[in-house]
Amino acid sequence: MVEVNKTVKVGNLIIGGEKKILIAGPCAVDDKIEVIAEKVKAQGAHILRGGAFKPRTDPNSFQGDEIEGLKALKKAGDKVGLPVITEATGIARYKKDGTKINVLESVIEYADIIQLGARSGGQQDFLNNVGYLTHKAGDKPILYKRPLGISIPQYVQSIGFLTQFGNKNIICCLRGEQKAENTTLRYKSDMNQIKTLKEQGFIVIYDPSHTTGDRNLVIEYAKKALEEGADGVMIETHIDPNYEYCGERVCDGMQMILPEELSELKKHLLNGGIRTCK
Ligand code: PEP
Ligand code: MN
Repeated sequence: MVEVNKTVKVGNLIIGGEKKILIAGPCAVDDKIEVIAEKVKAQGAHILRGGAFKPRTDPNSFQGDEIEGLKALKKAGDKVGLPVITEATGIARYKKDGTKINVLESVIEYADIIQLGARSGGQQDFLNNVGYLTHKAGDKPILYKRPLGISIPQYVQSIGFLTQFGNKNIICCLRGEQKAENTTLRYKSDMNQIKTLKEQGFIVIYDPSHTTGDRNLVIEYAKKALEEGADGVMIETHIDPNYEYCGERVCDGMQMILPEELSELKKHLLNGGIRTCK
């Protein structure tokens, strides 16, 4: 039985309590991050997100702004008073010139919450490193996205690698399952697992952006997830989503929404979500 904390504190913010949490920001950190931070804060976001290390399929595509991205994200968060979350894609990576970047240690240094992504999260030794180093860093909170291709019981079991050294500040995140044939979504929605995880005592954040892959569906799925009892949602947001289609920085433009669109979630976030209690 994996034991985690019922609530996670980040500064004054409590995740997993009565208040529903809105995490918003771009897929990848870019030079618009400070404006985005201001705008999502104005729409009630509690946490600023943005990838500095991006897990990409093609090694020749944009891989994130790395350490510079971490610094820019932290600066933007500090400026508007929002904690920041960003992904650690692994323990370390090498640049083409052989320079080594200590990804995990750098993310722990700059981020308030460490995000583990659907592609790298399932690896035991990585989880072991994250568990140990976040514990040493004062049990820094971890948002652990359900890895692709593993069942909910396997996902729950794997959380034990994170908690084994004493860090119980774990936030689960559902972001869609490996794509099934009968859906037009980017992944197959696993919203029905919110309740399963909540019943086992986990905090659950839902990610409608990666699940749907479609900016026209993001708000609808976010609302549904909050109604299903999710403790919050994480939404990819950009002031110019189409910008992310341009040039080398191509990164999930089709699923990012404008900060103003977040206002549609106000009711769901304010009244604690409309719980169905079934
Ligand atoms: C992300 O949230 O930035 C991301 C890469 O998502 P996922 O790991 O769910 O694909
Ligand atoms: Mn993305």
